[in-house]
Amino acid sequence: MVKHRLDCRLDMKKILIFIGPPGSGKGTQAKRIATNHHYGHISTGDLLRTLQTSADIEPDEVKALKEMKAGNLVPDWLIYRLAFKAADSYLDQGHGVVLDGAIRNVPQADEYQKYFKSKNLAGEVVAIEIGLSDKESFNRLSKRRICEKCGEIIPWTPELENITACPKCGGKLVARADDSEEVIRKRIVEQGNAVLQPIRNYYQKLSILKIINGMQSIEDVATDIEKAIK
Ligand code: AMP
Repeated sequence: MVKHRLDCRLDMKKILIFIGPPGSGKGTQAKRIATNHHYGHISTGDLLRTLQTSADIEPDEVKALKEMKAGNLVPDWLIYRLAFKAADSYLDQGHGVVLDGAIRNVPQADEYQKYFKSKNLAGEVVAIEIGLSDKESFNRLSKRRICEKCGEIIPWTPELENITACPKCGGKLVARADDSEEVIRKRIVEQGNAVLQPIRNYYQKLSILKIINGMQSIEDVATDIEKAIK
């Protein structure tokens, strides 16, 4: 058993970057991979939502977070500040990381590569795209929910569509604050397939991109990801 776990780690890259349109299941799959392989899960969306409720928030951060509420991307500097600190805490201990939603434009992709290079980990990166059309992205975002109590995101899938309470803590499920129809449309313009194309090209040029079909059940997407990262 121990040997098996050790083997899994040896044949897997240390840094797994998830990209995909909003609602593609990045978060669900990233968390699952992180749990299965004992990797740190870094979701910049979660880090930003935690910062929003933090007592130590700086004035420049309060201003930057207004963009999130409006459905825009927050400034890159805030992403680097939060994500690199979180990544340091795992990588410096020799653990792997799963980055979830952490890269949403080419300058960010490039800055992260520089960061990995500075840690001698540039050869340890795999980018995993969960492919989904913008139309399906809209459909899923308008129907997904979040737990009011613990923040767990409940994606809209046939498996989860009928649950009425959070499977983790039993809390009430509500629409996410940034999931109104107007904000969803804006997010698809800002984070959908048109914007993903240059990021896709960036990782393709480095020959580190794996594309997974997101129009499948959670289980089937997970199986395809496991195959791709082995
Ligand atoms: P998510 O939970 O991943 O859907 O992210 C929620 C929101 O956080 C996004 O709509 C953006 O406003 C912001 N955000 C998350 N990650 C990033 C990133 N890498 N760059 C810029 N903004 C981000």
